[in-house]
Amino acid sequence: MNDELRARAEIDLGAIRANVRALRDRAPGAELMAVVKSDAYGHGALPCARAARAAGAAWLGTATPQEALALRAAGDTGRLLCWLWTPGGPWREAIEADVDVSASAGWALREIVAAARASGRTARVHLKADTGLGRGGCPPHDWAELVAAARAAEAEGVLRVTGLWSHFACADEPGHPSIGAQLDVFRSALATAERAGLRPEVRHMANSPALLTLPEAHFDLVRSGISLYGVSPGPEVGHSADFGLRPAMTLAGRLASVKRVPGGHGVSYGHHYVTPGPTTLALVPLGYADGIPRHASGTGPVLVGGKWRTVAGRVAMDQFVVDLGGDTAAAGDDAVLFGPGDAGEPTAQDWAVAASTIAYEIVTRIGTRVPRVYV
Ligand code: PLP
Repeated sequence: MNDELRARAEIDLGAIRANVRALRDRAPGAELMAVVKSDAYGHGALPCARAARAAGAAWLGTATPQEALALRAAGDTGRLLCWLWTPGGPWREAIEADVDVSASAGWALREIVAAARASGRTARVHLKADTGLGRGGCPPHDWAELVAAARAAEAEGVLRVTGLWSHFACADEPGHPSIGAQLDVFRSALATAERAGLRPEVRHMANSPALLTLPEAHFDLVRSGISLYGVSPGPEVGHSADFGLRPAMTLAGRLASVKRVPGGHGVSYGHHYVTPGPTTLALVPLGYADGIPRHASGTGPVLVGGKWRTVAGRVAMDQFVVDLGGDTAAAGDDAVLFGPGDAGEPTAQDWAVAASTIAYEIVTRIGTRVPRVYV
């Protein structure tokens, strides 16, 4: 059976193209990197990468080298950076596929140099500074040493430092004191690199919230993930429509059954919902295996028959129930979990609130069992 009859995630590639154009207008002095890691935040890496390129994204960005190599295997030939590496990763394949890679430490640089020597190619490397995120990146006290090692490898011709970069901790909280502090550390890291003779093509720091709210963080390149998909980085940044962005994903299921039940009827595992009176229950064939957060049991919003309903009882692995009260519906009718919001449906941000999480997690976790339908 065609799974589209059960549920589908419609992806509006026109929205992605329009979002790229809106984001480029917002950062006119910088190139745009379309971040397509994690299967383009659940939207489908290849179609989204092609749409973003068509609308002028000069760069693509992935986390893992495997994600980058898959884009190359599918024919992408533009600038492409992957930044998350573990020891023994496919450095050589990445270098030979003209993928820019990232290094935050001497060990990584040594692996890149060895792979570049073995392949006879010049590796393109972005050095990453930890300016305060405290996750990946080279801490300030090791930065000069990393820069010197990279400079020596450049002199030997095995690598070229094409980028210097960092990542924010709190850009989604505009005005947070760490933002200015990180910018200061980044500028100082850039100055150290310049004094050592590095001449990168691009310096970059901005993710979506910094792209949208912090022009001084744009530098030469902005890395746009969630905003590319038309979703705001969070309530403190604003609504996506405030920035001319349109959510690209609409998630809908088709009601698998509709039935009348009396009052006092326990619903779903644990009977956490009991019907308050005679009512109509509808079954939505999507569950936590499809990425619907179980944490949204009793809170997740769904549009059925033109009205918002709430998940009644627990979200199960493949299905959940909504209480239609005095309304009726037919099996096969659409239940829209989220979309752009302009047809009255909830948004991914509404689901984020319902599940005490962020909209990034809502869209990214929609499972592979849900077909992506490109419109
Ligand atoms: N840059 C890096 C290093 C990231 O890890 C991410 C995503 O987590 C992004 C950019 C894109 O962030 P956003 O989705 O907020 O634009």
